Amino acid sequence: MGSSRKHTFIVEHLDSELEEWQALEYKIIHQECHDTGSQFILSGLADPASVKKMLGLPREALQQQSVETIYATTEARQKVCLLDPKAEKDIGPEDAARFDAFLFGGILGDDPPRDRTSELRSKGFPGRRLGPEQMTTDTAARVTRIVVQQGRHLDEIEYVDRPDIALPLAPADGAGDGGAHPNESVSMPFKYVKGADGRPVMPEGMIQLLVSDMDKGIDDLL
Ligand code: SAM
Repeated sequence: MGSSRKHTFIVEHLDSELEEWQALEYKIIHQECHDTGSQFILSGLADPASVKKMLGLPREALQQQSVETIYATTEARQKVCLLDPKAEKDIGPEDAARFDAFLFGGILGDDPPRDRTSELRSKGFPGRRLGPEQMTTDTAARVTRIVVQQGRHLDEIEYVDRPDIALPLAPADGAGDGGAHPNESVSMPFKYVKGADGRPVMPEGMIQLLVSDMDKGIDDLL
């Protein structure tokens, strides 16, 4: 049983810069919200115009205001669910009816987690957990959508845990990104929703970014 109710998905950008990794995550969250008829807001941006240029998202999705300004009263915040790795209660399909919006911290994953979600928790948004493990922001939004829009319980969702991502071989003529990575793979430190093809769902461009980050690392050593 799913919910036909349209929710708003809000990511409050909490880092001072916008890293390329985050840009890819935000783009896929926007795309998936668009595809499922939900609204997406990226809030707390110092300079929405430059983010629009970088991400190519519609201007109305990009907000300079922080989420505490958008939802200014205690009463309004009660309808916004903060996805919080330290919340006491796990999210469930019944939360589709209780909340209008779902809020995520726009933070890159870190190990050990520094609990920067606390910056939003302290504003009084009621919290729900997606299980005990830290996920990337786009995975957290995807899992939330599966629960509140498709009516599935957390334990029904299949994941690919810490996948090894094989890096693409350089083309035979040596053209391309400039880096050859035969037989190399990168182990991702998170779990991802398993897609219909059995592979982990990740933002488009993530593998190319992994390759270019590896090349940067190699260049730094030269
Ligand atoms: N290390 C981070 C911290 O300091 O809080 C976690 C950041 S996580 C990469 C980004 C966001 O995804 C979090 O702010 C939260 O909204 C959501 N998230 C990730 N894993 C979650 C979980 N297990 N339960 C609830 N929310 C989660």
